[in-house]
Amino acid sequence: MIPFLDLKAAYDELSPDLETALLRATRSGWYIGGEEVEAFEAQFAAYTGAPYCVGVGNGLDALTLALRAMDVGVGDEVIVPSHTYIATWLAVSAVGATVVPVEPTEGQFNIDVAAIQAKITAKTKVILPVHLYGIPADMEAICALAKQHGLLVLEDAAQAHGAAVRGKRIGTHGDAVAWSFYPGKNLGALGDGGAVTTRHEHLAQRICALGNYGSAVKYYNLEPGVNSRLDPLQAAVLSVKLAALDEWNTRRQALAQRYLEGLQGLPLQLPVSPAWANTIWHLFVIATPQRDALQTWLQAHGVQTLIHYPVPPHLQQAYQSLGWQAGDFPCAERYANQVLSLPMGPQLSVTAVDQVIELVQQFFGAQ
Ligand SMILES: *Cc1c(COP(=O)(O)O)cnc(C)c1O
Repeated sequence: MIPFLDLKAAYDELSPDLETALLRATRSGWYIGGEEVEAFEAQFAAYTGAPYCVGVGNGLDALTLALRAMDVGVGDEVIVPSHTYIATWLAVSAVGATVVPVEPTEGQFNIDVAAIQAKITAKTKVILPVHLYGIPADMEAICALAKQHGLLVLEDAAQAHGAAVRGKRIGTHGDAVAWSFYPGKNLGALGDGGAVTTRHEHLAQRICALGNYGSAVKYYNLEPGVNSRLDPLQAAVLSVKLAALDEWNTRRQALAQRYLEGLQGLPLQLPVSPAWANTIWHLFVIATPQRDALQTWLQAHGVQTLIHYPVPPHLQQAYQSLGWQAGDFPCAERYANQVLSLPMGPQLSVTAVDQVIELVQQFFGAQ
């Protein structure tokens, strides 16, 4: 059996350091905020090149609190990808703003920057690109467009830890960058976690207060906030895992390269990493009209695959009230029907990837 992602193997590889860090945190007597959280925030800020990093409870909160800190609310429009994980949209809805979806570039997975312009109105406040699957969005073009129209940029970097655009790591291109440390992400905790990186001191301070009941000084509340903080035990874990991130991303890149070469020439859409991008392959996603048959074939031969994601946000029951219909975002809908994520992870062996390649070749050879 080739698993889609082996989190147990990831734990085992780092277990001595993880267990030392966890014991240190549990024995400290300090269980909210404190040194572990501050140390990780400083390390992750340095890693991403951001002057500020604020730990929060999870990736969805990172997005939501960043939008609140940007004063985005009812009556405002936020440009989002039509093809993304629903959390990107939920954050916009949570602050009462309106999602304005934009389709991906043809043959690729990220937002089509050329199509954004036509969706900008007097109500547009923020462009919210997603570095989907670990492939960075074209931040230079997006930031130039935002500047031209006086808009803010919030990046959903939940799948992009360590990715870079023209040599500059994700973390400071936009006005704020939201991160998730959900266990399966490239930098994953042993539970929920999230952060926002930013170059704006006022955003960092406001996000920090918003996640702490709206309070910057204990028992003095500036605005109605929430409780969303990075747990010190998770921070201790993340410090250990951050030290391994670049090496683990390099392993993913070697596996992705093998997939790209091995699957070349088959009747399927391969993921595209632009020449200017350092892609960190959170997922290795292909697309084919024969997706369901291919998934069944791989499963029958012991290969676990997943679908990211089977229903596009605009057709989810959660967004029924917005009245979108099948056909409104054809590219997102096609991907929902055609995408398949092959096994990918730093503990996956080259032999396993070669077996997957061989099986995919056999599938198409038999068609
Ligand atoms: C995982 C993810 C999120 C949400 O992060 P959580 O920590 O699970 O709340 C948001 N956006 C994208 C693109 C994600 O992959």
